[in-house]
Amino acid sequence: MKVLKFGGTSVGTAQRIRNLAEIIPSNEPIIVVLSAMSGTTNALIAIADEAKKGNSERATDLAKELEAKYYVTSNELFFTNLYKKRGEEFINDMFSKVFQDIRRGFNGNEYNDTIASGELLSTGLFHLYLSEQKKNNAYLPALNYMKTNSDQEPDYEFIAENIERILNDYIGTKIFVTQGFICRNAQGEVDNLGRGGSDYSAAVIGNVVDAEEVQIWTDIDGIHNNDPRFVSGTAPLRELSFDEAAELAYFGAKILHPSTINPCSRKGIPVILKNTLQPSDSGTIISHHYNPSGVKAIAAKDGITAIKIRSSRMLMAHGFLKKIFQIFDEYSTSVDMITTSEVAVSLTIDNTKNLDKILEELNVFSTVEVDKEQTIICIVGDFVADRNGYAGKIFNTLKNIPIRMISYGGSNHNVSILVSSNHKIDTLRALHEVVNEHKLVKA
Ligand code: ASP
Ligand code: MG
Repeated sequence: MKVLKFGGTSVGTAQRIRNLAEIIPSNEPIIVVLSAMSGTTNALIAIADEAKKGNSERATDLAKELEAKYYVTSNELFFTNLYKKRGEEFINDMFSKVFQDIRRGFNGNEYNDTIASGELLSTGLFHLYLSEQKKNNAYLPALNYMKTNSDQEPDYEFIAENIERILNDYIGTKIFVTQGFICRNAQGEVDNLGRGGSDYSAAVIGNVVDAEEVQIWTDIDGIHNNDPRFVSGTAPLRELSFDEAAELAYFGAKILHPSTINPCSRKGIPVILKNTLQPSDSGTIISHHYNPSGVKAIAAKDGITAIKIRSSRMLMAHGFLKKIFQIFDEYSTSVDMITTSEVAVSLTIDNTKNLDKILEELNVFSTVEVDKEQTIICIVGDFVADRNGYAGKIFNTLKNIPIRMISYGGSNHNVSILVSSNHKIDTLRALHEVVNEHKLVKA
């Protein structure tokens, strides 16, 4: 079994949906995981926001606008009158529910119900299209198996049991079509895995069905070795280890949801990033295979806040760090980077929701300085301690850049530095010199 996930732009128009049907293999068992058509989730969130505020007229207008786009897509997508009609009826059913919720008012779980419509629409249409094309396929409703527990983590046991039960109902069927992103929560209500969560859905499904591989299809040619929006001459990476990919996904390489790696790496299932515009291209392969070859890639994560905490006593007393981390833990705020000296600790967070309360508590026993608008630059590569020279090369390129924090040695494949966000582009460009020294050969 293989899992193939296609993102919003891959199902973004009728033509794109037709292309998909060409790309997917029909001679081996696959689960196709789809996102909503591009723009849909944003539109649904806008509708749900208006409805929640009580602006039902505005919400209805926006929903009508979105519905109209779906009728156009469906009319373009299907060839026969029979399926054009089925498509129309399906869209009408889906939107009737949205309009009904808006009319009745959002006071229960209507917000999440509305947002879930995007993936239900894309998969419903694709399933109908495959059927029109006479491709034997089955519809696998995510809301019947994808579930999170009370920690908002996937409930693997439940998912495995239920997916298996449904798959067993369709012996001989090769193509299964299911939704990314949406799930039920511990209370059984419709919920989702967070923005961009379809990648994560695919990884969790891959894990429970022991997939041969999980393919994530987008419309770019894999993870690049630097940010192509700011640096010229970047190149796609052909190969990454799970650990390297996890660092890059977390630190800004927007192409993959950061939680995607773990469910696959735990079972050694390769994750392959593929390009719908170039289906025969081998893409980026992420697996256990580790290929030590210097500095592989650079990624940046914006919106970081740095906090310097100075012990009020001259020396850091024993228990100082524990006290600090307890406060961050209490406010469910995760710390990304950390550096220490004898008298102070600097750390970074990206979620500032509880910053005021955190600062209030830290101020009781320390002096605190806060710097907002910082960027973490993550350098991924082969930094095994006995291979010398890389740190020197990296920092040599940064001689004109004011560096706020450095983290080296946390793992064998990551060096992170913190700079003020207005130095981000200069830093990415300067560092590209080191990446280029180890140019990757396109397979
Ligand atoms: N449709 C959802 C979103 O826009 C999930 C996804 O695309 O992965 O966030
Ligand atoms: Mg995505």
